[in-house]
Amino acid sequence: MSLIVQKYGGTSVGSVERIQAVAEKVARSHRLGDKLVVAVSAMSGETNRLIELAKAIDAQPPLREMDVLVSTGEQVTIALLCMALNKLGVEARSYTGGQVRILTDNAHGKARIQQIDGHRIEADLDAGRVVVVAGFQGSDEDGNITTLGRGGSDTTAVALAAALNADECQIYTDVDGVYTTDPRVVSRAQRLDKITFDEMLEMASQGSKILQIRSVEFAGKYNVPLRVMSSFEEGPGTLISLEDEDEDQMEKAVVSGIAFNRDEAKLTIRGIPDQPGVAYKVLGAISAANIEIDVIVQNVAKDNSATITFTVHRNDLSQAEGLLKQIAQDLGALEIDADDQIAKLSIVGVGMRSHAGVAATMFEALAKENINIQLITTSEIKITVVIEERYLELAVRALHTGFDLDSPSAEQG
Ligand code: ADP
Ligand code: ASP
Ligand code: MG
Repeated sequence: MSLIVQKYGGTSVGSVERIQAVAEKVARSHRLGDKLVVAVSAMSGETNRLIELAKAIDAQPPLREMDVLVSTGEQVTIALLCMALNKLGVEARSYTGGQVRILTDNAHGKARIQQIDGHRIEADLDAGRVVVVAGFQGSDEDGNITTLGRGGSDTTAVALAAALNADECQIYTDVDGVYTTDPRVVSRAQRLDKITFDEMLEMASQGSKILQIRSVEFAGKYNVPLRVMSSFEEGPGTLISLEDEDEDQMEKAVVSGIAFNRDEAKLTIRGIPDQPGVAYKVLGAISAANIEIDVIVQNVAKDNSATITFTVHRNDLSQAEGLLKQIAQDLGALEIDADDQIAKLSIVGVGMRSHAGVAATMFEALAKENINIQLITTSEIKITVVIEERYLELAVRALHTGFDLDSPSAEQG
């Protein structure tokens, strides 16, 4: 008998009919004898709808109340799913995050799970019940409701799997696995049979919204076997697991996947002194305002003046630009420049460790399409470039073809 944690995303529970279909899927697994814990998202569009309601009252609502509000989406789904299961003759119980003691810190809107007390869940499982837990939420030490950030139900599922020592955590969604890149952008993308935690973490961090970053971190840390699969069709999905040490390094695909996002904006400050402490003055002030900085590049011109370029989340652009203006005045900078028409594109693969010339292949593919690279940054298993946003889809397709990732069967998307 296996203990399986299943997670169903928003589209998979997007209507009463779909919730009933999920109940049938859960009931089938239950009848096979597996112990089942099911984490669910809010019905698709519901979390956005709740956020809009709040914004109609206050552009910046209190974060505590925001969590009380947005956590209700998942509470609706757990109850409906349990009703559907009971209707099918499967005994099931729903719980909010707080009820099964998903203890988090108190960072409302982006809380981190610290501990889960599995006793209540285990008692239900032992009694033969299916346990349905609201994703995306927990509660802090003082009993305040918290939420885990957008896409957080993935993390609930993986954390439950880790806490309960589950045999597998299955993430059911609207695609049948993890693809070489977003299949909605490149129709020639191919499903991967497996991918390592490290690669999946880079893919998620660089913008592939298929799994929340923290869920992959959690799965890697506690070695939870994680599988992404379709809610709507049968299939093996994609297994995310530790790197297979025995696998021949040269056999591995150099690039496993391509991730991208349009979430960032670029800021540049020119004509600042090339002296110790200047980068700290510029970037330190931005960080001190709690603005996360991603890519950073510094150049020194012939006249010994320096230029610093960096990226921040687009939502933080106007605040960061305001701060940079102030810093520019203090440092006597020549000018500053802000650009939100950029996109970030990354190729990811553990195979890069043992192959040379990957960057050259990437730059060649972009050059052939006449796409200018604005910034470049690398890590052991990833190369990231920042380009003009309007070329993003062209660039993703060019790299997909350039690294032989295209599926032979599909039409070019
Ligand atoms: P859910 O509501 O089930 O959590 P999400 O919308 O969060 O689903 O994630 C699934 C979506 O992720 C897919 O519909 C797909 O467009 C997108 N996606 C982005 N990158 C990838 C990728 N590399 N492989 C598969 N899907 C991807
Ligand atoms: N409902 C939340 C969201 O839309 C959490 C999730 O779906 O994972 O972000
Ligand atoms: Mg999701």
